[in-house]
Amino acid sequence: MKLKQLATAATAAVLLAALTACGAPGSASNPNAGSPTEGGATGDGPYGLEIAENPEFEAGTTMATLAEAGTITIGTKFDQPLFGLLGTGDKPAGFDVAIGSLVASKLGIPYDSIKWTETPSNIRETAIQNGDASLVVATYTINDKRKALIDFAGPYFVAGQAIMVLADNNDINGPEDLAGKPVCSVEGSTPAAKIAEYGAQVVATDVYSNCLDPLRNGQVVAVTTDNVILSGFVDQNEPEFKLAGDGVTFTEEPYGIGLKKDDQAFRDFVNDTLEEAFEDGTWARLFEQTAGKVLPVPTPPTLDRY
Ligand code: GLU
Repeated sequence: MKLKQLATAATAAVLLAALTACGAPGSASNPNAGSPTEGGATGDGPYGLEIAENPEFEAGTTMATLAEAGTITIGTKFDQPLFGLLGTGDKPAGFDVAIGSLVASKLGIPYDSIKWTETPSNIRETAIQNGDASLVVATYTINDKRKALIDFAGPYFVAGQAIMVLADNNDINGPEDLAGKPVCSVEGSTPAAKIAEYGAQVVATDVYSNCLDPLRNGQVVAVTTDNVILSGFVDQNEPEFKLAGDGVTFTEEPYGIGLKKDDQAFRDFVNDTLEEAFEDGTWARLFEQTAGKVLPVPTPPTLDRY
């Protein structure tokens, strides 16, 4: 991953020169957090998914094209423990990866035939629009601004924005405490925009793992993004960091699966796949095998078939 600094007026970014000296994915103490546990998986790949045998789709649909190709490219994060982390293996692991693998399985595509591409927050819409990824499963909040460019299936999970600080910092307990202070987040993310509304000086980089060293060395006082991403970093780097204010959240971040705009049949197919997994327990099992190693297993959200 290139360690490039990005900023826009929207995030009122303050850039720090030393942001580039950061750990690459997998260099942390617990590089495999987010990888599946053993057991409970009797089907294909690490998530034990049943691969659909010769599934039939209407000719000309995206499903038919992908099933015929026998492969799919899925965008995800490569540096986020619990949801999408490229550890020591050659494929990322986590709940987002499991959800992407689930959709592929219903297309008759086994785990080993999926191509994973890294989609940092700021390039997700472009990756979908350009066809670089057929699906993006990447802690990707559904919102109207993004819906103008791409479509979402889901949500398949609901997170909330939180704040991560050094473990011995008791001065920051909520977003109000960040006014005028340097706070690291990621360009093109909803948390970067939100924390600017609280008057924070947003230090914007391209992937969240690039925020860890600036927090360690005091260039920023906090990192902000979704609670589940930050919980992954806390767990990965015990005992360095903690969630501020006992993990208080101040937004709702419904995670959707991004796909090309106006491909209604494909969106319906992905939503049907999620709905079935919510109902038959597959969704809960996939969560338990991945993020559930650190986070409590929630109940499935309600789909928004807008
Ligand atoms: N869910 C938020 C977003 O989609 C933050 C996490 C991320 O950047 O991936 O912007």
